Amino acid sequence: MKYINAILALFICLSTTCVEAQKKEELSDKYVLVIHGGAGTIVRSKMTPALEYEYTCALEEALHRGQYVLDTGGLAITAVEVAVKFMEDSPLFNAGKGSVFSHEGVNEMDACIMNGKDLTSGAVAGVRNLKNPIEGARLVKDSSKHVFLYGDEAQEFCLSKGAVYADSSYFFTEFRWNQYVKARDKGAIILDHDTTDVNYQYKTLEELEKFGTVGAVALDRYGNVAAATSTGGLTNKEFGRIGDSPIVGAGTYASNRSCAVSCTGKGEFFIRGTVARDIAARMEFGDLTLTESGERTMKRLNKLGGSGGFISVDKNGNFIMMFNTKGMYRGVVTNEKNAAVKIY
Ligand code: ASP
Repeated sequence: MKYINAILALFICLSTTCVEAQKKEELSDKYVLVIHGGAGTIVRSKMTPALEYEYTCALEEALHRGQYVLDTGGLAITAVEVAVKFMEDSPLFNAGKGSVFSHEGVNEMDACIMNGKDLTSGAVAGVRNLKNPIEGARLVKDSSKHVFLYGDEAQEFCLSKGAVYADSSYFFTEFRWNQYVKARDKGAIILDHDTTDVNYQYKTLEELEKFGTVGAVALDRYGNVAAATSTGGLTNKEFGRIGDSPIVGAGTYASNRSCAVSCTGKGEFFIRGTVARDIAARMEFGDLTLTESGERTMKRLNKLGGSGGFISVDKNGNFIMMFNTKGMYRGVVTNEKNAAVKIY
């Protein structure tokens, strides 16, 4: 009996070592994380060095947090969630804490996350009291039978699964409120990125028309891609308007067959152009490279009259950051290159 047990133990030991060796082989060094913090009329002449510094630091920190996940062998889906969550907590961006106000004077946030490995996805829209909407999207992906949940019920579900609640006062920023009152009085629905007074130089953060839906795409060391996007939407948006960000294929998409994409800009155009899926589909069916695919999709967006941008990483680690606006808050980090951030 002892003899049989010893052989059994040896067999288990050998097979475990075998599996581990295989895992190590599958675990490549290569990883990529790309993020954006919104695209729009972002021009250097309007930016003070102090503000530029604040944005740069926030984007770098988001990259570092996601990089840590990837570097230590974590999954792309976790890296994009971690990076987006950090930007949601920053009042600099139009997501989570810095979200804009709807016509009713409330913050209604949308978010989506998607795993390229198995095409699983989760999204929430019109949620008012989730501290991190992207966490809600992840909970929908992991623990719900559905893909896309809306409003109070979406929130209820996420809270029941452990999402963190935040009172409306948490999302209130005076600047956003003033922005909303101005838009409401003019009857305008405003994309957070755009401003009309091109000669004015912003001196403080409060004066700046804050730009900033946030998004992240990543390739992990196992070869999986993932995407996440989170937004407060448009200032003074009405009638339960939902943008492109939480819609799979419009503002967010990921497939290991092609790439992961996160978009920012006037959502209506991205929905109509199914922009995120368009980039992936051109690669899958047209055999284009990621850059070719991005360029053609951008041309199509231009034709539609849409403004904004997108970030994408493919299954081989190629990445793009394209926009047809003056600027896009963006950054990238890879296993070979330190975090690099750009605005204009
Ligand atoms: N795409 C977002 C929306 O339409 C807005 C943005 O990117 O700032 O809701």
